Amino acid sequence: MTEVYSMDPLIIKTPYEMSYKHSYGKTSKFFTSLSAGKLMATRCDHCKFTFLPPRADCPYCLAETKWVEISGKGIVHTFSTLYFSGEKFLKDLPFQLVYVELEGVDTLFLTRLKIKDKNSTKIGMKIKMKISREPEWRSSDVWAEPED
Ligand SMILES: [Zn+2]
Repeated sequence: MTEVYSMDPLIIKTPYEMSYKHSYGKTSKFFTSLSAGKLMATRCDHCKFTFLPPRADCPYCLAETKWVEISGKGIVHTFSTLYFSGEKFLKDLPFQLVYVELEGVDTLFLTRLKIKDKNSTKIGMKIKMKISREPEWRSSDVWAEPED
């Protein structure tokens, strides 16, 4: 049912729902491994470079990469506090997104930081990646928390 908020300008509120079907293709193992409690990255043996988010093929030499399990320990590279988001996370506002430097990984990984005191987030702070026990097969199945 459409609700009318204003006539000039005309502002309405109407239900909106959509289903979205897509394939993770060659990076599917990242999500299936999360469901098994493992955090996986991809590595190019030729370039000695490890990617997370995973890359099926090395962007430098184009060789196919291999999957490697990583510890999920790392540090905050940089962070931002969000005061607006997509619909799924509106209930969680404000929250923080961080780029993390993970052990054994050569790229930065963008993820959410779940922390009680948002004012205590610092660049260089030690974090540990956490994995949801109830997978939704999305990037939000993994996040960072301060290391104890
Ligand atoms: Zn390579």
